[in-house]
Amino acid sequence: MKAFSVDYHELIAVKKNGRALTPDQIDAFACAVDRSAWTDDQIAAFLMAVRLKGMSHAEAVALTRSMARYSERLSFGAKYSAVDKHSTGGVGDGISLVLAPLAASLGLLVPMMSGRSLGLTGGTLDKLESIPGFQARLEARRIERQIERIGLAMFGQSPAMAGVDQKLYALRDAIGAVDAVGLIVSSIISKKLIEGLRALVFDVKFGRGAIFGSYAEARALAKALVKTAKDSGLKSAAVMSYMDEPLGRAVGNAPEILQAVDILKPGSSLQRDHFRGVEDYLEVTVELIHHMLRLTGGVRSKQDARDRVFESLRSGRAWAKFQDMLRAQGVSAEVSAGLEAHLPKPRVRIKATLGRGRGFIRFVDARLIARASLYLGVLRRRREDEVDHSAGIILLKKRGDRVRPGETVAVGLSRSANRQDCRMAAEYMRRAYVLSSSRPAAGRMIREVF
Ligand code: URA
Repeated sequence: MKAFSVDYHELIAVKKNGRALTPDQIDAFACAVDRSAWTDDQIAAFLMAVRLKGMSHAEAVALTRSMARYSERLSFGAKYSAVDKHSTGGVGDGISLVLAPLAASLGLLVPMMSGRSLGLTGGTLDKLESIPGFQARLEARRIERQIERIGLAMFGQSPAMAGVDQKLYALRDAIGAVDAVGLIVSSIISKKLIEGLRALVFDVKFGRGAIFGSYAEARALAKALVKTAKDSGLKSAAVMSYMDEPLGRAVGNAPEILQAVDILKPGSSLQRDHFRGVEDYLEVTVELIHHMLRLTGGVRSKQDARDRVFESLRSGRAWAKFQDMLRAQGVSAEVSAGLEAHLPKPRVRIKATLGRGRGFIRFVDARLIARASLYLGVLRRRREDEVDHSAGIILLKKRGDRVRPGETVAVGLSRSANRQDCRMAAEYMRRAYVLSSSRPAAGRMIREVF
């Protein structure tokens, strides 16, 4: 079926009336998006009908395949086995920035296609683009050469690579149709088919800062991801990880890059302080790397994976990989060696305190922190918006920390926020903190693995 011969009214009506689309109809839709044969309004109407009426597993598999079909693909030959991880998105989830160079330093090949901000989740590409000179738009043959040379590339969708996802992803964000299992599954797995992977690890977040707050819904998404990956010929595992609270101590663009530098750079203040404050971030990172190594046959146990991760961090091997990637993707040697001095600086700093509140932090609400970050410029309010690369939030206090009256618990950073934005950000930061009179027990980050 040719896309241009398909009446969009007809396809939208099928979904609007709750019926299943055939693989040909789904292919016609993907082809129409690829060729810009439908307007954005028509595509958005179709996506909202899918969001409201849902998709069967067969429809999601068909959409995944069609989205991958209208794209260039990477290929690494039989002797290489590329592996990747993909998160469904969370607040402060800059794990890819540390995980990708770590995994490459352990001998894995990681062609990582990432996204921009989606819903209340920051985008890995937006974070990387806060580094002056960083190029996220790479051609397929260049990515292949870079992977063969240094084992690592981090890049975004383009019209030639995952162009259908690029369009659908941005439109879903703009119209509030992110939380649809079939659309998430096809968005993630089509990108991974294009990457030419052998294996894939999903980081499926659940909780207040995740796409799905309820564990049952997030679990259903994890099951759908693993099943669709299998039916698309990809070996995979899904890690269910906690996302009621932001990960680590930084949320935002440059602030998450600075935190990643502090984790990766040998002898940094975080390394000297035994990674205190980012234990949650590293626990999830180790779990994901363990499964990446396990699926490609390269690890004996979780302890083995953990030992290798910390050896690579302390010896500077992961840091060297990060540097190699930055230089390969347009960052000068001077900037990559001294990132701290070259990242965009905020114009305003907003301190959040809890007034006369005292005690222990019981909980920091990821959803409210994400709302605050929206006012600071970390995320897009409209599709055409630029993000503020300097923007973010530093969480000085997290669960279990003691707080005294008037003490600053978080600092908001921004260049673009006006007075009203600053007021709203401060209010959301304050409301995100919940106190308790006794120290809460430490929580588990990983609930289940499929
Ligand atoms: N990540 C993606 O790439 N797509 C989604 O739809 C959600 C998270």
